[in-house]
Amino acid sequence: MLLCRECGRQVASSQTRNGLCIDCQVRHSVADLRDEHARLWRKRERYRSQNANVAQIGHQIARVEDRMAQRIKELVSNEREAADHLRRELEAARGQRYTIKGV
Ligand SMILES: [Zn+2]
Repeated sequence: MLLCRECGRQVASSQTRNGLCIDCQVRHSVADLRDEHARLWRKRERYRSQNANVAQIGHQIARVEDRMAQRIKELVSNEREAADHLRRELEAARGQRYTIKGV
């Protein structure tokens, strides 16, 4: 067993890479996409409040979600676990719009 050097959780050494547990690996690998997702999400809400066309932004958001899913799949081979990770990262991305001020 090892302690993840970021979250401090005990993990099987076979599941770590660079001392990070799989959760932290996933979080790192999609960090930029998660920010991008949060940015687009806020933009869409802003457009929607102005009754502007949001279809284009919806496509962009879907593309970012696809890229997140791809990166997670590279780290997590189990399909159901990969889906769980993606769901958590998306929830985090959507929650982020409430915590980031401005932009
Ligand atoms: Zn960790």
